[in-house]
Amino acid sequence: MDQSALVSLMVELFAAIRLLSAYPIPAVLPEVHALSQTEIQRRLCDGRPCRIKAFYHPDAGVLVDETLDLQNDAFDRSILLHELVHHLQKTTDKFGIVRSFCSRRISEELEAYEIQNRYLSEIHASRRALAAGWAGKCADDDGAFKPVASAPYNGD
Ligand SMILES: [Zn+2]
Repeated sequence: MDQSALVSLMVELFAAIRLLSAYPIPAVLPEVHALSQTEIQRRLCDGRPCRIKAFYHPDAGVLVDETLDLQNDAFDRSILLHELVHHLQKTTDKFGIVRSFCSRRISEELEAYEIQNRYLSEIHASRRALAAGWAGKCADDDGAFKPVASAPYNGD
């Protein structure tokens, strides 16, 4: 998928997010980089195999697995939409008030999954994204995230 097709897709997905949530269309679109699975493992998983298909970083923008079929696969598109929600969370500082890093991460993920699933339901897709990997709690106020089970999930 070339850069201009990606930009049109992002505009379309931000419009969908605006209809499904209270988020505005952002003034500035995030950068999107398609990476090989090897590169994703190197950058996000200490070089070990991992299931991460996409990731948002406030500076780098959205990183997506190059094997995602954003053109033809509605579920893969919803993974990109999920990351765009993270961009809106950062640019609007929606969860900035939550002091604990761990609690903030969980709130951000649960909202991103909720909007992703609302999108999948809206387009009548049969699959839903599982937020099970985030069904844990924080060890203490500023402590690490403790998942209740190591269930697989498709994004971060
Ligand atoms: Zn996420």
